[in-house]
Amino acid sequence: MSEANKNVSRRGFLKFAGAAGIGSVIGSKVFADSNEPNGQKEQPAQPLELPKRKLGKTGVEISCLALGVAFNAVDNQIILRKAVDWGVTTWDSSPMYENGNSELGIGKFFEKNPDARKKLFLMTKASGAKNVEDVEKHLQASMERMKTDHIDLYFGIHGLSNPAQLNDEMKKWVEKAKERKVIKYFGFSTHTNVADCLMGASKLEWIDAVMPIYNFRVMQAPKLIDAAQACYDAGIGIIAMKTQAQKVESDSDKKLMEHFSAKGFTEGQAKLKFVLDDKRITAACVGRGDMAHLKQNVAAVLDKTELTQLDKEVFKNYAAQTCSAYCAGCANICGSVAAGVPVSDVMRYLMYYNSFGDTQTARQLFAEIPQQTRDKMLTADYAAAESRCPQRLPIARLMNQAVRTLA
Ligand code: SF4
Repeated sequence: MSEANKNVSRRGFLKFAGAAGIGSVIGSKVFADSNEPNGQKEQPAQPLELPKRKLGKTGVEISCLALGVAFNAVDNQIILRKAVDWGVTTWDSSPMYENGNSELGIGKFFEKNPDARKKLFLMTKASGAKNVEDVEKHLQASMERMKTDHIDLYFGIHGLSNPAQLNDEMKKWVEKAKERKVIKYFGFSTHTNVADCLMGASKLEWIDAVMPIYNFRVMQAPKLIDAAQACYDAGIGIIAMKTQAQKVESDSDKKLMEHFSAKGFTEGQAKLKFVLDDKRITAACVGRGDMAHLKQNVAAVLDKTELTQLDKEVFKNYAAQTCSAYCAGCANICGSVAAGVPVSDVMRYLMYYNSFGDTQTARQLFAEIPQQTRDKMLTADYAAAESRCPQRLPIARLMNQAVRTLA
């Protein structure tokens, strides 16, 4: 695993971060104020290059911080410009983000900045595709929206829950798409049964990369650690998503913040560093469309401070103390005893709504659940699911909350 940016010194980092530690990244001496009009080009006083890591056996090196373009990029072109200037050259999108305005915004940016496309490693997903014909249609539509003739890494399945979906038909489609040079690499994203999906992928030579949920919470599970290791050993790149996990307002959360703020980190920076401390991870994807947050993430990646054993213990304890507020996506445990209600998916939509503030996506995804299933969500008996849930989640109460807020 290579670190391309060997020369980013602690001093250089502090200069970027405003010489007051990575918790204070605004008011940088390196960058001008970012209040310029939308889309206006602003060059940094000195260009940045973020550390890069190899994407498994592909050998390609990409920035270890990925920009999740899960925001309306049509109206927020400046974030895209800043990302390029600050070396965040791995971008991830999906046709479903902001109703297509993520991909359309990227297309708008490439139209205005044709040279930028060459610097970027572009990823998107076949969100909602049901078969390979759908995957092909989604790919063509994404390329059209993003004004590009290829996707660097295409997640042809968005939200894999069962490795059996990685079948021969899909493999043939991947081979042809690579021959046609419309995609360079292929993989899938997964939020559910993540360890099984990763383990399945590790046995398939045609999977180049995976995008699993990977954060300080799920990283405590030995099964997931084994699966990530199997992917790493098989040369499969891992792009971590949902790296910030879910915030739980509590005394434990306060203690976590206090611990890291004493070291000069924000909570988000500490979470990002925790994920990237795992060298099996090629890149960590963080998706918020605000400048201060992007700058904090860049500063965290430039900072060379390593987390101590104590820091890791703090995360481990916090994860244990607040586990009953986090769904780990292990649908194979609760799925068969929840009256057909896709509990794990609904929990994720609630997370989009409550923690990420992405109400539109949360409601859109909830509306895609068949009406018949939604109708029984309030009356289904979740006792068996609750008794099996390793996170001890109050499933009945949360399903009730989902119907009230997302319907
Ligand atoms: S509700 Fe519990 S058992 Fe079901 S997916 Fe979430 S954590 Fe796993």
